[in-house]
This record gives sequence, structure tokens and C-alpha cells, in this order.
Amino acid sequence: MAAIRVIRGDITKQSVDAIINAANESLLGGGGVDGAIHRAAGPELLAECRALHGCKTGDAKLTKGYRLPAKYVIHTVGPVWRGGAHGESDLLASCYHRSLAIAQEKALVSIAFPNISTGIYGYPKDKAAEIAISSVRQALAQPTSLQDVVFICFDAENYDRYKKQIY
Ligand code: ADP
Repeated sequence: MAAIRVIRGDITKQSVDAIINAANESLLGGGGVDGAIHRAAGPELLAECRALHGCKTGDAKLTKGYRLPAKYVIHTVGPVWRGGAHGESDLLASCYHRSLAIAQEKALVSIAFPNISTGIYGYPKDKAAEIAISSVRQALAQPTSLQDVVFICFDAENYDRYKKQIY
């Protein structure tokens, strides 16, 4: 049985097969968790990202993890919150589905998600948590290589919310 867990901490420190990056469409780095991942992975990550020529909102792309403890990084681009009537919920769900699909294609066992779109992109944290948790539960209800899916919560508000909804 696959497990869903919640940890309060820094995603760059996680020893899992892949961490998910909340990137932007350029895939060339940014602030928040994206900046932290690029700093920890080193310049080789940016070089590989350059060759990917960006990523659409709601989609995901795989790179190696370089100096990170994680073997791979799955870069996904969450939607910017614009009030909720611009397809934001479908796009956010798509980030989780596409990231999970890539993990399955690579037969990964353990992956860690940040709270995509809930920082600079301003997605309401309660709504984002519901989408994140239901998307992962849906994927784990099917036959899968995944055994361990961890939500890494950086802030206390997200951590408390995820704990309540998962445990
Ligand atoms: P977005 O642009 O998708 O909103 P952000 O990086 O601004 O991306 O924020 C996404 C989430 O990542 C936020 O909940 C933020 O608190 C969290 N975060 C920032 N740094 C880290 C980190 N080192 N590890 C895990 N989560 C992080």
C-alpha cells in the first residue's frame, strides 16, 4: 500500500527519487522553492533546463537532480491565481497529474511535492490543498510504482492543513 505523508521542512533536503519543483514557464529559475532547488542542485540543473525550452502551465518536465539528494526533479508550472474563474483549479490538478504520470513512466517509488502555486502565485491554500490531496489519492488508487508520496510544507499554515486532511 502506498503511503501519503506530510513533513514540515525544506524540499531540497529530501532523499527521494524525485522532488517536484513549482517552476515558471521559462524553467530558468525564479524565487521561492524554484530558487532554492536551483541553488541546491547547482548550475548543471539550469543548463539542462535551458535545453527544455520552457514548460506550459499545467504541464511537467523531468531533469536530473545533480547535487540534490533527490535523483530527479520534476518541474511543473502552477497557475497564477486570478480569482478562480480562469481555469486555475484544472491547471493545478493537471500539475499534480502530469507530475505523477512522469513519476510512473520512470517507475519511481518515492516523490515529494511542495505546495504548488501557494506562494508567489497566490493560490488560496485551502483550495490548493484539496486539489493536491485528491489528485494524489486518485493516482495511488490505481496500480502504481509509487510507494511514498510526501507533501513538504514550508509554512505552518499549510503543514497544519495537510496534517488535518491526511491523518
Ligand atoms: P509558486 O510560484 O508556485 O507560488 P513559490 O515557490 O512561491 O511557488 O511557493 C510554493 C510553495 O513552496 C509555498 O508554499 C512556499 O512556502 C513553499 N516553499 C518555498 N521554499 C521552499 C522550500 N525550500 N521547500 C519546500 N517548500 C518551499
